[in-house]
Amino acid sequence: MLLFDAHRHLPDTGTGSPVQIRVVCGTREADWDAVLAQAATDPHVIPMLGLHPWFVATAAPGWEARLDALLRAHRTGVGECGLDFAREAADRPAQEQAFRLQLRLAHALHRPVAIHAVRAWGRLLDLLREEGVPPAGALVHAFSGSPETVSALQAMGIFLSFSAEGLAPARTKIHEVLRAVPSSHLLLETDDGGDLERVIATAAVLRGVAAEDLAARTWKNGLRCFKELMA
Ligand SMILES: [Zn+2]
Repeated sequence: MLLFDAHRHLPDTGTGSPVQIRVVCGTREADWDAVLAQAATDPHVIPMLGLHPWFVATAAPGWEARLDALLRAHRTGVGECGLDFAREAADRPAQEQAFRLQLRLAHALHRPVAIHAVRAWGRLLDLLREEGVPPAGALVHAFSGSPETVSALQAMGIFLSFSAEGLAPARTKIHEVLRAVPSSHLLLETDDGGDLERVIATAAVLRGVAAEDLAARTWKNGLRCFKELMA
Protein backbone atom coordinates (compact mmCIF):
# COMPACT_ATOMS: atom_id res chain seq x y z
CA MET A 1 0.00 0.00 0.00
CA LEU A 2 1.24 3.50 -0.83
CA LEU A 3 0.84 5.93 2.04
CA PHE A 4 1.21 9.70 2.11
CA ASP A 5 1.83 11.42 5.45
CA ALA A 6 0.92 15.04 4.73
CA HIS A 7 2.44 16.57 7.86
CA ARG A 8 4.96 15.58 10.49
CA HIS A 9 8.06 16.82 12.27
CA LEU A 10 11.51 15.83 13.37
CA PRO A 11 12.62 13.47 14.71
CA ASP A 12 11.49 11.66 11.58
CA THR A 13 12.18 8.02 12.34
CA GLY A 14 11.04 6.77 8.96
CA THR A 15 8.66 3.86 8.58
CA GLY A 16 8.56 0.18 7.85
CA SER A 17 7.39 -1.51 4.71
CA PRO A 18 4.60 0.38 2.99
CA VAL A 19 6.11 3.02 0.75
CA GLN A 20 5.43 6.24 2.53
CA ILE A 21 6.05 9.79 1.46
CA ARG A 22 6.42 12.04 4.46
CA VAL A 23 6.09 15.82 4.47
CA VAL A 24 8.49 16.94 7.21
CA CYS A 25 7.98 20.50 8.41
CA GLY A 26 10.42 22.78 10.15
CA THR A 27 8.88 25.11 12.69
CA ARG A 28 11.72 27.47 13.60
CA GLU A 29 15.18 28.40 12.48
CA ALA A 30 16.82 25.89 14.85
CA ASP A 31 15.42 22.91 12.92
CA TRP A 32 15.68 24.09 9.30
CA ASP A 33 19.10 22.55 8.66
CA ALA A 34 18.03 19.24 10.20
CA VAL A 35 14.95 19.08 7.96
CA LEU A 36 17.13 19.68 4.90
CA ALA A 37 19.60 17.01 6.07
CA GLN A 38 16.78 14.51 6.53
CA ALA A 39 15.47 15.16 3.03
CA ALA A 40 18.98 14.84 1.58
CA THR A 41 19.32 11.30 2.91
CA ASP A 42 15.76 10.03 2.32
CA PRO A 43 14.05 10.39 -1.06
CA HIS A 44 10.65 9.81 0.58
CA VAL A 45 10.91 13.02 2.61
CA ILE A 46 9.40 16.24 1.28
CA PRO A 47 11.02 19.09 3.22
CA MET A 48 9.20 22.23 4.33
CA LEU A 49 10.79 25.23 6.04
CA GLY A 50 8.87 27.82 7.98
CA LEU A 51 8.25 29.75 11.16
CA HIS A 52 5.39 28.33 13.23
CA PRO A 53 3.15 30.88 14.99
CA TRP A 54 4.27 29.53 18.39
CA PHE A 55 7.83 30.60 17.62
CA VAL A 56 7.25 34.01 16.08
CA ALA A 57 7.90 35.81 19.36
CA THR A 58 11.31 34.21 19.86
CA ALA A 59 12.57 34.27 16.27
CA ALA A 60 15.96 35.93 15.90
CA PRO A 61 16.01 39.18 13.91
CA GLY A 62 16.71 38.56 10.25
CA TRP A 63 14.96 35.17 10.10
CA GLU A 64 13.01 36.33 7.06
CA ALA A 65 16.13 36.82 4.94
CA ARG A 66 17.64 33.53 6.08
CA LEU A 67 14.43 31.63 5.29
CA ASP A 68 14.26 33.32 1.90
CA ALA A 69 17.86 32.29 1.13
CA LEU A 70 17.31 28.65 2.19
CA LEU A 71 14.13 28.39 0.14
CA ARG A 72 15.94 29.71 -2.92
CA ALA A 73 18.85 27.31 -2.40
CA HIS A 74 16.74 24.18 -1.81
CA ARG A 75 13.67 22.63 -3.32
CA THR A 76 11.40 22.85 -0.30
CA GLY A 77 7.93 24.02 0.54
CA VAL A 78 6.99 26.82 2.93
CA GLY A 79 5.73 26.00 6.44
CA GLU A 80 4.70 25.24 8.92
CA CYS A 81 3.31 28.74 9.29
CA GLY A 82 -0.01 30.29 10.18
CA LEU A 83 -2.08 31.69 13.01
CA ASP A 84 -2.73 30.34 16.51
CA PHE A 85 -4.88 32.51 18.74
CA ALA A 86 -5.57 29.83 21.35
CA ARG A 87 -3.33 31.47 23.93
CA GLU A 88 -4.43 34.74 25.52
CA ALA A 89 -0.93 36.10 25.27
CA ALA A 90 -0.54 35.41 21.55
CA ASP A 91 0.88 38.40 19.70
CA ARG A 92 -1.66 38.40 16.90
CA PRO A 93 -0.21 41.22 14.80
CA ALA A 94 3.25 39.63 14.90
CA GLN A 95 1.81 36.25 13.90
CA GLU A 96 -0.10 37.81 11.04
CA GLN A 97 2.96 39.64 9.78
CA ALA A 98 5.07 36.46 9.83
CA PHE A 99 2.30 34.51 8.09
CA ARG A 100 1.85 37.15 5.39
CA LEU A 101 5.56 37.16 4.73
CA GLN A 102 5.63 33.38 4.31
CA LEU A 103 2.59 33.43 2.03
CA ARG A 104 4.44 35.98 -0.10
CA LEU A 105 7.50 33.74 -0.25
CA ALA A 106 5.29 30.83 -1.35
CA HIS A 107 3.88 33.05 -4.10
CA ALA A 108 7.21 34.46 -5.22
CA LEU A 109 9.03 31.12 -5.30
CA HIS A 110 6.04 29.05 -6.43
CA ARG A 111 6.12 26.63 -3.51
CA PRO A 112 3.34 24.81 -1.66
CA VAL A 113 2.56 26.02 1.85
CA ALA A 114 1.61 24.13 5.05
CA ILE A 115 -0.73 26.14 7.26
CA HIS A 116 -1.38 25.80 10.99
CA ALA A 117 -4.60 27.46 12.19
CA VAL A 118 -6.16 27.33 15.66
CA ARG A 119 -9.00 29.62 16.75
CA ALA A 120 -8.10 32.06 14.01
CA TRP A 121 -10.35 31.01 11.14
CA GLY A 122 -11.78 34.43 10.34
CA ARG A 123 -8.36 36.04 10.14
CA LEU A 124 -6.98 33.09 8.22
CA LEU A 125 -9.61 33.55 5.53
CA ASP A 126 -9.04 37.33 5.52
CA LEU A 127 -5.30 36.95 5.03
CA LEU A 128 -5.67 34.29 2.35
CA ARG A 129 -8.07 36.56 0.48
CA GLU A 130 -5.78 39.57 0.82
CA GLU A 131 -2.54 37.78 -0.07
CA GLY A 132 -4.07 35.21 -2.41
CA VAL A 133 -3.68 31.44 -2.10
CA PRO A 134 -0.19 30.43 -3.23
CA PRO A 135 -0.69 28.93 -6.69
CA ALA A 136 1.62 25.96 -6.06
CA GLY A 137 -0.84 24.63 -3.49
CA ALA A 138 -1.74 24.84 0.17
CA LEU A 139 -3.00 22.66 2.96
CA VAL A 140 -4.34 23.39 6.41
CA HIS A 141 -2.97 20.69 8.70
CA ALA A 142 -4.65 19.13 11.76
CA PHE A 143 -7.86 20.76 10.66
CA SER A 144 -10.21 21.72 13.52
CA GLY A 145 -12.48 24.33 11.91
CA SER A 146 -16.20 24.28 11.17
CA PRO A 147 -18.04 22.87 8.13
CA GLU A 148 -18.47 26.50 6.97
CA THR A 149 -14.71 26.97 7.06
CA VAL A 150 -14.32 23.75 5.08
CA SER A 151 -16.52 25.25 2.36
CA ALA A 152 -14.63 28.55 2.32
CA LEU A 153 -11.21 26.87 2.13
CA GLN A 154 -12.45 24.37 -0.43
CA ALA A 155 -13.63 27.19 -2.65
CA MET A 156 -10.02 28.42 -2.59
CA GLY A 157 -8.73 24.98 -3.62
CA ILE A 158 -7.00 24.38 -0.29
CA PHE A 159 -6.40 20.83 0.92
CA LEU A 160 -7.50 19.86 4.43
CA SER A 161 -5.45 17.41 6.47
CA PHE A 162 -6.57 15.54 9.57
CA SER A 163 -4.32 14.22 12.31
CA ALA A 164 -4.58 11.34 14.76
CA GLU A 165 -5.30 13.83 17.52
CA GLY A 166 -8.27 15.30 15.65
CA LEU A 167 -9.72 11.85 15.05
CA ALA A 168 -9.59 10.84 18.72
CA PRO A 169 -12.90 9.35 19.94
CA ALA A 170 -13.99 12.40 21.96
CA ARG A 171 -13.62 14.87 19.09
CA THR A 172 -17.00 14.26 17.51
CA LYS A 173 -17.24 17.73 15.94
CA ILE A 174 -14.07 17.11 13.96
CA HIS A 175 -15.44 13.71 12.93
CA GLU A 176 -18.45 15.47 11.41
CA VAL A 177 -16.17 17.87 9.60
CA LEU A 178 -14.04 15.00 8.32
CA ARG A 179 -17.14 13.50 6.74
CA ALA A 180 -17.95 16.82 5.04
CA VAL A 181 -14.57 17.27 3.31
CA PRO A 182 -14.74 16.41 -0.39
CA SER A 183 -12.50 13.44 -1.16
CA SER A 184 -10.69 15.51 -3.79
CA HIS A 185 -9.13 17.72 -1.10
CA LEU A 186 -8.66 15.35 1.82
CA LEU A 187 -5.24 14.54 3.30
CA LEU A 188 -4.16 12.61 6.39
CA GLU A 189 -1.16 13.06 8.66
CA THR A 190 0.52 11.77 11.79
CA ASP A 191 1.86 15.20 12.89
CA ASP A 192 3.87 13.57 15.71
CA GLY A 193 5.24 10.80 13.48
CA GLY A 194 2.91 8.07 14.80
CA ASP A 195 1.25 5.26 12.89
CA LEU A 196 -0.21 6.54 9.62
CA GLU A 197 -1.98 3.27 8.87
CA ARG A 198 -3.96 3.72 12.06
CA VAL A 199 -4.92 7.27 11.13
CA ILE A 200 -6.11 6.02 7.74
CA ALA A 201 -8.06 3.15 9.32
CA THR A 202 -9.79 5.51 11.79
CA ALA A 203 -10.66 8.05 9.10
CA ALA A 204 -11.94 5.29 6.81
CA VAL A 205 -14.38 4.07 9.47
CA LEU A 206 -15.58 7.63 10.08
CA ARG A 207 -16.13 8.25 6.37
CA GLY A 208 -17.60 4.81 5.74
CA VAL A 209 -15.07 3.83 3.06
CA ALA A 210 -12.48 1.09 2.71
CA ALA A 211 -9.08 1.90 4.21
CA GLU A 212 -7.32 0.86 0.98
CA ASP A 213 -9.45 3.29 -1.04
CA LEU A 214 -8.79 6.12 1.40
CA ALA A 215 -5.05 5.39 1.36
CA ALA A 216 -5.07 5.48 -2.45
CA ARG A 217 -7.11 8.69 -2.50
CA THR A 218 -4.92 10.54 0.00
CA TRP A 219 -1.81 9.33 -1.83
CA LYS A 220 -3.07 10.85 -5.07
CA ASN A 221 -4.13 14.03 -3.30
CA GLY A 222 -0.72 14.33 -1.64
CA LEU A 223 1.04 14.05 -4.98
CA ARG A 224 -1.25 16.78 -6.33
CA CYS A 225 -0.84 19.10 -3.37
CA PHE A 226 2.97 18.82 -3.39
CA LYS A 227 3.49 18.40 -7.13
CA GLU A 228 5.94 21.30 -7.29
CA LEU A 229 8.32 19.40 -5.03
CA MET A 230 8.02 15.95 -6.56
CA ALA A 231 10.90 14.57 -8.62
ZN1 LIG B 1 2.83 20.48 12.82
